[in-house]
Amino acid sequence: MLATPHPDRAAALAIVAEQLEEGIAAKKCHACGCFQAAVAAFEGTAPGRHELRSALERARGVLTPTKYDCLGCQVCYPAVAENAFADAFPGEAIAPLCPTDAPAERPGWPPLPGDYRVVRYGAPVAVCTLNSAELAGTLAARAPAGLALAGTLHTENLGIERIVRNVLANPHVRFLVVCGEDTRQAIGHLPGQSLVALCEGGLDEAGRIRGAAGKRPVLRNVSRSQVEAFREQVELVPLVGEQDPGRILEAVASCAARDPGPFAGAPSDDAIPVVAAHEPARLVLDPSGFLVVYPDPRRGLVLEHYRNEGVLDCVIEGATPGAVGAAAVERGLLSRLDHAVYLGRELARAEESLRLGTPYVQDRAPGPPPEPEPAQPQDCGCTGKT
Ligand code: SF4
Repeated sequence: MLATPHPDRAAALAIVAEQLEEGIAAKKCHACGCFQAAVAAFEGTAPGRHELRSALERARGVLTPTKYDCLGCQVCYPAVAENAFADAFPGEAIAPLCPTDAPAERPGWPPLPGDYRVVRYGAPVAVCTLNSAELAGTLAARAPAGLALAGTLHTENLGIERIVRNVLANPHVRFLVVCGEDTRQAIGHLPGQSLVALCEGGLDEAGRIRGAAGKRPVLRNVSRSQVEAFREQVELVPLVGEQDPGRILEAVASCAARDPGPFAGAPSDDAIPVVAAHEPARLVLDPSGFLVVYPDPRRGLVLEHYRNEGVLDCVIEGATPGAVGAAAVERGLLSRLDHAVYLGRELARAEESLRLGTPYVQDRAPGPPPEPEPAQPQDCGCTGKT
């Protein structure tokens, strides 16, 4: 016969059961890693095998294949359940409710996918807007010169790990602005406070973020040396709660003005290769033909396309290099990428000449000029007879 739970514990189990019912009723939870991990975690506890058994069986019955790790909802039912359970059953071992599997890296930067928008690889400032998704979009759309990327953060474990690894993969990022709305404490997720605590105090011996107030601020998929390099690489700009794009962009500009240059102490060498460009050395004729570009004050930018035997077959007129170039591509007038690059450059020069009223002379295509074709004997119509 089972012992009657202590009143505090009975109240906690009632909260857990109630939150499980909320998750069962909410379709979004069925495919969420948070809810799925919670069901598995509670199943492994003594109350899960007894008092909570019926609710857990019904919860397991609604689970579907995982679509996302955690939606970062304002109120997360399994997190509320975990908090109540952990307070009432401090000795009961419970596995982490949030998924903590290492996400797969991909080649390039950023190596880990996430809810962010990349603006410029070579810029020094990353902005984390915490729970304010719209704010991240607004900042990225403004695309100031100093901004590398802007994105959200919903969890104090996997989410922070992604930031650490994505920052370490780009030595140009030297500042981390943390702003926007931090997730409500009722959820158990406090990613903003945890990220600030990580920058200030690092990890303790158990891999837990020193000073983090959330329930699960444990980083399992980044090494201690990666965390230390991250702390050395970026300077934290704590603006948690700030949601005014203007003030955040001021902070971005102020950081960019004192950019110390790329960080040299990253523990890996997966930085994106930087290729030194040089002028093309040789001319390769485009089988599609050659181009004549010039500005005309009445017609705008003019592009004449000739087949290689010297016969004009198309004329394009337009107001901008983009329009003229796109029309040339649509009509198949270019078959080589270097020719397309050459056309873009000439159209830009021609547009500048039109705008400033300066003379324009078309550059010859890069490389040595082609050999002139031998002249064909001309038929004068003479019969040779006198
Ligand atoms: S974050 Fe929590 S409430 Fe939101 S879908 Fe996942 S389990 Fe449900």
